[in-house]
Amino acid sequence: MAPGPLSREAGKTRAALYHAGMPRPVHAIISIPALRRNLSRARELAPHSKTWAVIKANAYGHGLDNALEAFADADGLALIEFDRAQQLRRAGWRKPLLMLEGAFDFDDTALAAREGLSLVVHEPRQIEWLARLPSDRQLPVCLKFNSGMNRLGFDARAMQAAWARLATLPAVGAITLVSHFANSDLAGGADEAIERFDAATAELPGERSLANSAAVLAVPASHRDWIRPGIMLYGATPFGERSAADCGLRPAMRLHSRLIAIQQLAPGDAVGYGSRFVAERPTRIGVVACGYADGYPRHAPNGTPVAVAGVRTGTVGRVAMDMLMVDLGPVPEAGIGAEVELWGDRIPLDEVAQASGTIGYELMCALAPRVPVRVERED
Ligand SMILES: *Cc1c(COP(=O)(O)O)cnc(C)c1O
Repeated sequence: MAPGPLSREAGKTRAALYHAGMPRPVHAIISIPALRRNLSRARELAPHSKTWAVIKANAYGHGLDNALEAFADADGLALIEFDRAQQLRRAGWRKPLLMLEGAFDFDDTALAAREGLSLVVHEPRQIEWLARLPSDRQLPVCLKFNSGMNRLGFDARAMQAAWARLATLPAVGAITLVSHFANSDLAGGADEAIERFDAATAELPGERSLANSAAVLAVPASHRDWIRPGIMLYGATPFGERSAADCGLRPAMRLHSRLIAIQQLAPGDAVGYGSRFVAERPTRIGVVACGYADGYPRHAPNGTPVAVAGVRTGTVGRVAMDMLMVDLGPVPEAGIGAEVELWGDRIPLDEVAQASGTIGYELMCALAPRVPVRVERED
């Protein structure tokens, strides 16, 4: 796949800088084989369903080009951003593209008709925009039921009326019935939502789509006609208590850097802004070229896991814009230039997220444009 049409300026700069030698030691590695493997995993879990691979937010930080290459076999791609959907069409994606929040205005609706996008309909205004379209082409729509999240969608009664109105519109083609779970990551957390959805849609024809990653992994009854996995494709867990490895997923994004300085602290010496870490004993500290402006969480506390030269240790002191510090106690042989894995194979992204009071989703999406990306195509 030619990288051109999907690379924004940042993406182009990234690639150019990488080939000219990296601007700083920090870099991300995106694994196409891992993305592919995780998509296969989702499809194995739901063998009778078609798959919308969810690629919103720049494919959860992994890059649309990479997603397009890795998810070429998916039945469809799902996203939020209309400019990106247009770019995907220009890059040659002919299969379905589902706009997960639907149109934000009439222009989006017209664009969807031109580009053949499938629109979620969660709100009466969106139906009226569809009513204004010329009838020369039929647009597939996904009518959204509010199953308890109370964010987007119609309640049971409004659902019937919305369906009936959509069915009269000449520009509307197939109507798929969809909903999104608030609690599918908790045991039994999707049961009530499924019951509500089934009750509200019992009399309506059409395909169904309910399952996000957590439901793909844990709620077979939700798989229906189309699954919508996101986070699992990128190799992180949707669960609080079950790791990505336990779910049979492979990390698709690794964040690596190197040590750029070493400090020997005496007892009582502090390190970094605010002197948040104070050595109790003689302590060797490594300074890593990676900070919050690269996407590393500033809220990471002392002891957040990190690997230096393949050995697991922890961060010390406050994460700064461009640097963070690590305890070299467990790895006394490490010197300047030693390899650092911030997350990836040895250090699951989810562990860094949990230590920092967030979730893997946020860390992936926060990977900064200034971080060069290397794409790995072989295992
Ligand atoms: C983001 C999103 C998904 C994917 O969710 P994951 O938890 O990442 O699997 C599925 N459906 C909708 C409507 C979404 O917005």
